[in-house]
Amino acid sequence: MSYTSRVIADVEQRCASEPVFIQACKEVLETLQPFLDANPKYEANAILERIVEPERIVQFRVSWTTDKGELKVNRGYRVQYNSALGPYKGGLRFHPSVNLGILKFLGFEQIFKNALSGLSIGGAKGGSDFDPKGRSDAEIMRFCQAFMTKLVPFIGMRTDVPAGDIGVGGREIGYLYGAYKHLTNRYEGVLTGKNLLFGGSLARTEATGYGCVYFAENMLASRGLDFKDKVCTVSGAGNVAIYCCEKLHQLGAKPVTVSDSTGMVYDADGIDVAVLRQVKEVEHARLTRYVELRPSAKYTPATDYAAGRHAVWDVPCFAAFPCATQNEISGEDAKALLANGCQCVCEGANMPSTPEAIALYLENGILYGPAKAANAGGVSVSQLEMAQNASMVHWTFEEVDRQLHNIMKNIYTRAATTAKEFGDPNNLLMGANVSAFREVADAMIAQGMY
Ligand code: NDP
Repeated sequence: MSYTSRVIADVEQRCASEPVFIQACKEVLETLQPFLDANPKYEANAILERIVEPERIVQFRVSWTTDKGELKVNRGYRVQYNSALGPYKGGLRFHPSVNLGILKFLGFEQIFKNALSGLSIGGAKGGSDFDPKGRSDAEIMRFCQAFMTKLVPFIGMRTDVPAGDIGVGGREIGYLYGAYKHLTNRYEGVLTGKNLLFGGSLARTEATGYGCVYFAENMLASRGLDFKDKVCTVSGAGNVAIYCCEKLHQLGAKPVTVSDSTGMVYDADGIDVAVLRQVKEVEHARLTRYVELRPSAKYTPATDYAAGRHAVWDVPCFAAFPCATQNEISGEDAKALLANGCQCVCEGANMPSTPEAIALYLENGILYGPAKAANAGGVSVSQLEMAQNASMVHWTFEEVDRQLHNIMKNIYTRAATTAKEFGDPNNLLMGANVSAFREVADAMIAQGMY
């Protein structure tokens, strides 16, 4: 049995109740075998056994009260996965589906994503099964304060710097930061994605969506293609999806879809980003509201989708940008994309493609930008926010965007060069995994056995 198969079998046995974590481990480890065969020092140092195991997991009770005075209890978590390259860094997710397995998958991915960014940050993830939907501002504030009260002993600007993710945007980061400051009596850059008034960075809000499109631009250029007049599909309607649509417009493409958990919008004239921002960022409404404001657009409720299907991927497109959540492109969805002539899938969300979908992209030789490389723009600008906080300066939007553009180009080049080095130039998933793994593993070896 190969080294990777042995460690995967062990993870399958020990983490049997965590299917998405097992999926994420397999996705990384299965691409590493040729590299590990050529470099036996990693097995000799038990790197795989160590890297699949988080350095520390904290789980805590979060008790808070609703506006009516009802007492509520949620679970909070922080998975501090790997600190070989720097302080733990990774988002917080507030969503009813959150459990330890999901946060372990996200934290594990984050190790490699952060390594690819070329910045000195380790990997982590956290969150809660709290559902912010339908909660008042005051309830969200009380929840964030209760959550931070429990998290505060474990984080710090040189220890662990959380950020946002699904359900945690600027408002939540503001309340979390306020609580941190009051509990510690310190005004420091312990969270990223902050408001510009207290240490936030320009272009952080846009960074993941913009970065994803920059990554795709690099992939397209490798085949002499560009975005001019190309129809693109985007899923999700949150932070990543909105700014993915905005950058696609800026580069001359036409994004025609967005979606949320209740349905999808098809706008043949191109998604109107101003309307989308009004619906999602100002009104916090569902996508039916978009169609009220843009009656020419068409709405399909999620209940109309066939089981295991997502209507966005039936819309013919040149390039597809999954920006909602994990496993949102099934094998059947991938077949529909390919049958309609899609030439590029670039992942804004984390692990949005199932293993069956990824196998189809690679077999058919289309351009495939894997999440840990393509959506690294968010964490990269978070690190730029940390740098600005540490030196007490503010860079302009243009300066941060310029650095983001360079970082995404470097990430693409790293993944593409490594894919070529290991004999499979179209496989950026393998290239990204090997390139990131090599760096983290070498740092772990140099730091001794922990
Ligand atoms: P948001 O909460 O802003 O938006 C998430 C969007 O996806 C919403 O429109 C939401 O719809 C939709 N969605 C979530 N779950 C489902 C589901 N099960 N089925 C259908 N739609 C769903 O989150 P972000 O935009 O920040 O994050 C989106 C993805 O990008 C996640 O995978 C996240 O991990 C990843 N990511 C985010 C980064 C960031 O900087 N924000 C950085 C790197 C990765 P609804 O409102 O109905 O739930």
